[in-house]
Parts: sequence; C-alpha cells; structure tokens
Amino acid sequence: NGQAPAELLSANNITALFDSVDAFLFDCDGVIWKGDKLIDGVRQTLDVLRSKGKKLIFVTNNSRRSRRQYAHKFHSLGVSVSEDEIFSSSFAAAMYLKVNNFPQENKVYVIGGEGILEELRQAGYTGLGGPEDGEKRVQLKSNCLFEHDKNVGAVVVGLDPHINYYKLHVRLMDEAQVYGPISFLFSKGGEMGVEPGHGFSILLSNEKDFLKSVWTNSDKRYNRYGTLCIRENPGCLFIATNRDAVGHLTDLQEWPGAGCMVAAMCASTEKEPIVVGKPSTFMMEILSKKFQIASSRMCMVGDRLDTDILFGQNAGCKTLLVLSGVTTQSTLQDPSNNIQPDYYTNQVSDILELLGQ
Ligand code: PLP
Ligand code: CA
Repeated sequence: NGQAPAELLSANNITALFDSVDAFLFDCDGVIWKGDKLIDGVRQTLDVLRSKGKKLIFVTNNSRRSRRQYAHKFHSLGVSVSEDEIFSSSFAAAMYLKVNNFPQENKVYVIGGEGILEELRQAGYTGLGGPEDGEKRVQLKSNCLFEHDKNVGAVVVGLDPHINYYKLHVRLMDEAQVYGPISFLFSKGGEMGVEPGHGFSILLSNEKDFLKSVWTNSDKRYNRYGTLCIRENPGCLFIATNRDAVGHLTDLQEWPGAGCMVAAMCASTEKEPIVVGKPSTFMMEILSKKFQIASSRMCMVGDRLDTDILFGQNAGCKTLLVLSGVTTQSTLQDPSNNIQPDYYTNQVSDILELLGQ
C-alpha cells in the first residue's frame, strides 16, 4: 500500500516525536472521552503536555455542540480547555461560509443540531431549521402548492437525530414567507377561487385575514427545503459537517453518524457536498493560521483512520493512532487497510508513562 507500517509508540521513539512537534491536535471521541465519559488518564496527560510547553488543540467531527458547549463539556469533565482551543465541525461550517464571503443576508438551512445553529449565529448568519423542524409533519396531498425560500444560499447537513423525509424536502413556512406568494396570487388573479375541502373555504377580502386563514387552514403553508434549495437556488452551497459512519452518543454504544444524513441528501440532490470536517484540511487551514504553527510541527492524535489519521496526513502532520476508540489493532494491521499512522498506542495516557512521568 505504499505506507510504512505504523510503529508502536515506545520509550525509544517518543522523545523524537515529542521534540519534533509544538502542538498536539486531539480528536475527541475515542481519544479524550467516549460519549460522556472521560478516558482514564487524559486529564493528567494533558496537564503534563501543557506544562512542557505544548499547545493543545481539540478537533472534533461531532457537530452536535458549538465550541461554547464543548468548552462546557470539558469543564464538566474536569478538564480545562478554552473555547478558542476547540475546532468542531459545527464551527467549521460557519467558518467556511465566512471565509468564502457568504452574504449575511442569505439564509442557511440546517439539517442538524443546535451546535450548528449557534455557530452560524456567532458568525452573523441566519440559520433556519435545525431541531425545531423535527416535530413537524406534513400531510402531502396531490394539490399541495409548494414554494421555497429563494434566499437560502446554503444547506448545512450534520448529525440530526430528528431527520425525516419532510425535513429533507419540506419545511413549514413562517408568516412573512407565506405572505409573498399569497400577495402574488392576489395581484395575478384579483380574487382567488378556492375549492372546498382543501382548507380554503373561507374567502376574505382583507389580505391579512385571508393570509391568516391560509396560515391556519391550508396545505399551502408548507415549503420545500433541503433538497429543493440545493436543486433550484442557483449557486446554493451543500455543506456537510462530516461524513462519519458512526459515533458514540453514549459511552457504550455506537450510533449512526452524520454520514447517513449526508448520504440521504446526496441521493436526493444528486450532488456531492463540500465537507468541512476531517479528513478535509479546512479546519487545519483555519487553526494553523490562528495559532501560527506549521502543520509539520503538529501531531494529530486520533482513533479513526479514515478521518483523523487521514486528516493529519493530508495536512502534513505527524500522526498517532490510539486504540481506545473505533479502530482495533487488527483493523490497523489488516492488509486491506491502506492508512498507516506514524505511531500507534493503546491510549493517550501511554504518552505520560512513556515520557517517564
Ligand atoms: N459525529 C457524531 C454524531 C458523534 O457522536 C461522534 C462521536 O461521538 C463523532 C461524529 C466523531 O467525533 P470525533 O471527531 O470527536 O471522534
Ligand atoms: Ca474519534
């Protein structure tokens, strides 16, 4: 496969690794914690690395939280990490829009969690959707008239435990949005004929009251989203926070990751997303600029070969695989695996032991 087999991290090679880097980049799940449980020895290891002058940076593909929420999680686990040391894929999505000068007046439709919405707000953007769309159900009828918001200039897809068919496609309109199409119909038709039995049986002369009756009674208040915006709004961006197959929602179980939500959107739009999480090097671009550290002077520590280790390799970092997460030693050494980190070890706290601390 072209890559030299990973070396087991040992007392013999750790000094060379340690001296060759100024920063350690830590993946979170499977490295720092599993779900909500801190992995043994992590706190002490981070303390020692800091005391030896290493910069610590945390890079997670999990988009469910914002950086602020991650800082809170670290704090509640007794680990002191500040918001600006955290790079989550939720933050990366907002930063991608920012560095590409996405207009503030355009809206962003989110299939994902509060973490993405919060990062969008922090960056000055209007996010639509997110968890609030989860409970909505639409009665699809053959005579539904769909409109969609032409100001949605980007759709961001991340982990969404409440994803459903309608979120992929349909979203409830708010009053302001429904008002435009209705006044358009008035201006075109003068008075609008309404078929009984379709929620339009009351016809009022006052547009505002009419709108209200439409709003409360009609199928016309529904508005297609994710798929339609990407397919029909010219230049609409399709951004994926990450494509992880699985993640730990709890410390014991793996659950489907954002990869399955992204795959759903790929299928209906027939488009491929811009991925901002690992293994894309987008987060590396922003973090190496921010800290003024060359990626060649960083070591990426992760538990997944196809996200973390590939991210480190794509960016030119040293790479260290830990076996405390999703990758086993037999997967690493399987002939079908073509991603080999520089080093591997059981868990982060081995660093402490090998350094003789
Ligand atoms: N996405 C989700 C939804 C997850 O639950 C997880 C891990 O828990 C991940 C991604 C991977 O996160 P990380 O990059 O920190 O390993
Ligand atoms: Ca991980």
